[in-house]
Amino acid sequence: MVDDRLSGASPADVRVRNRDAVLRALYPNRRYSRSELSRITGMSKVSTSDVVADLMEDGYLCEVGYKNSKSPGKPARMLEFNTEAQVVIAVDLSNGDQIKGVVTDLKGTVLARERHPVCAGSTLRIEEVIDLCRSLAEDSDLPLLGIGVATPGFVDERGVVLEAPNLGWLNVDLAGVLKNRFHCEVCVANDADCGVSAERSFANGSPNMMFIQIAKGVGAGLLVSDHVVHGSANTAGEIGHVVVDQSGFECICGKRGCLETVIAVPALKRRIGEHPDKEEEIIAQAGCILGQALSVVVAMTDITDVVVSGPESLVDARFRKATQERVNMLVHSRFIEEVKVHGPYFKEDTALLGSVANVLKTKLNVM
Ligand SMILES: [Zn+2]
Repeated sequence: MVDDRLSGASPADVRVRNRDAVLRALYPNRRYSRSELSRITGMSKVSTSDVVADLMEDGYLCEVGYKNSKSPGKPARMLEFNTEAQVVIAVDLSNGDQIKGVVTDLKGTVLARERHPVCAGSTLRIEEVIDLCRSLAEDSDLPLLGIGVATPGFVDERGVVLEAPNLGWLNVDLAGVLKNRFHCEVCVANDADCGVSAERSFANGSPNMMFIQIAKGVGAGLLVSDHVVHGSANTAGEIGHVVVDQSGFECICGKRGCLETVIAVPALKRRIGEHPDKEEEIIAQAGCILGQALSVVVAMTDITDVVVSGPESLVDARFRKATQERVNMLVHSRFIEEVKVHGPYFKEDTALLGSVANVLKTKLNVM
């Protein structure tokens, strides 16, 4: 243990650190007595008892039975994290024709869900997001820990959506608006970054991974040594606007033939609609084009765990197989391990659960 008098930590810092240590030891479903927690966290028994008392008062811990012990004397009470102390609301704005949301407990178990249709192709009104959150808040009587939002586009660290062409948004202070309205923590993050959080926090994902989100647009989340890469202007992962076909369709960004115009959901649906007999070929070709686009990223980062997420009717096993084969054909050597491309653990709830993880990380530091 670092001596706090020497480390310069204030009593408030120490209190927060001690709370975090106890919560992390028990989260989400481990049981320990106070003396076991003292041993695990390295805190004194007195400090441990104080922290436990505070956390019980706040509702985060509860006593559950007694420790089995053969030694004489009163058996110790066991403690566990109370996953029902509060709820989290999560909202996903990445689908073109609907916005969806869930209410979860503090372990990410979905308690309620709602979908609100929105007008595809027009600017999303912020009131529609507020209405969905209000409606979700009414689905539970428990206090609200926070709201997490997954959005396409670029987001800064304050939760301002800097630019989301697919929502028609420019500099929208979504976190600020929701904080004012709901008086709680609000975490707004890019949808592909939320995918990374979901895989890493709830599905035992690798600390080095790439998460490709194929929806109305195409984006990527990058996790390197357990750090989400944001880049110098919060635009890391914007792989959707890399040109892959210079004579292709015009893109919303003003260029022609961006990856998004070839493999995003509207593009795939359009092409399959035009050539229904060639569905298999169109999907495999889209997978190949993604593999081609990812090859340099894989070679640069040595990330070999790639999640490709999208509606299962289009982004399926055939799509992922084509991506995996193409990327390995281009980069596999004795220097780079074989790349594994797979689907997201939580399927369509991925961005939502990643948003839940972001709130838990920010408020309770348990992720
Ligand atoms: Zn573009």
